[in-house]
Amino acid sequence: MTDPLFDLTGRTALITGSTRGLGLAMASGLGSRGARIVINARNPEAVAAVTKSLRDNEIDAVGVAFDVADEKAVAVGVQEATELAGPIDILINNAGIQRRGPLHELSLDDFRAVMETNVTSAFLLSKVVAAGMITRRRGKIINIGSVLGPVGRRTTGAYVTSKGALSALTKAMSVDWAQYNIQANAIGPGYFSTELTESLQSDVTFDTWLRNRVPAGRWGQVEELIGAAVFLSGEASSFVNGQVLYVDGGMLASL
Ligand code: NDP
Repeated sequence: MTDPLFDLTGRTALITGSTRGLGLAMASGLGSRGARIVINARNPEAVAAVTKSLRDNEIDAVGVAFDVADEKAVAVGVQEATELAGPIDILINNAGIQRRGPLHELSLDDFRAVMETNVTSAFLLSKVVAAGMITRRRGKIINIGSVLGPVGRRTTGAYVTSKGALSALTKAMSVDWAQYNIQANAIGPGYFSTELTESLQSDVTFDTWLRNRVPAGRWGQVEELIGAAVFLSGEASSFVNGQVLYVDGGMLASL
């Protein structure tokens, strides 16, 4: 029997950007603990394929493809998700992109794309989903931040700005919504092996730097984000509000 503090049976979780990487790992992790999962990304074929593969593994999953940065698409997508899977109890704002380059060379289009996908999307999704959570007096919102946010790194200016803002947005959500029994928190991953970091993993200089820089001495594996996501999705975190839980192998603890 699953510990009730971590049991997600009967809960519906919408995880944005969940066709691969960290989002897919969290979707499987929450699904294995009883949650009904809504898979999302822009690519409808990927959404359908991932949804099928979760269902083949006995996870209760539906899929809804939409762009999280498009206000109208978000409204329609959340409506469709609710019709297919019931009211959303857990929202994980995970979809995110990176556009690398020094700030003095970064185009306004790239800066805006990063801000809209990484920050504005969390506002749009949470606003729509929180309306139902407020009515039901229950909900969990988890924003996926980063170790880049509290600190910067060359050529990631737009991304750092977006993740810093997402951390502030998490606090704002918890301040406005804790009174309705909604817990809004963030997870700050360190460096994980996913498609987003592929160019860094294959860069020997970066890889060596990272292994020396992280006290754990390695990249994170996507399954290692599940524990934090389950904790922040379940009863175990009923009085945890506005926090960023870093899952980074000790990176931010060390200079
Ligand atoms: P991936 O690039 O592997 O996956 C990103 C997912 O988001 C895909 O499913 C993608 O599908 C989807 N997506 C991207 N843009 C949109 C959009 N506009 N609307 C809907 N879905 C979208 O990334 P990761 O798994 O590595 O990263 C997930 C999150 O974790 C991001 O927020 C990232 O910033 C954060 N993070 C990652 C770290 C890492 O080391 N990997 C470290 C710290 C934070 P599609 O393209 O079909 O839309």
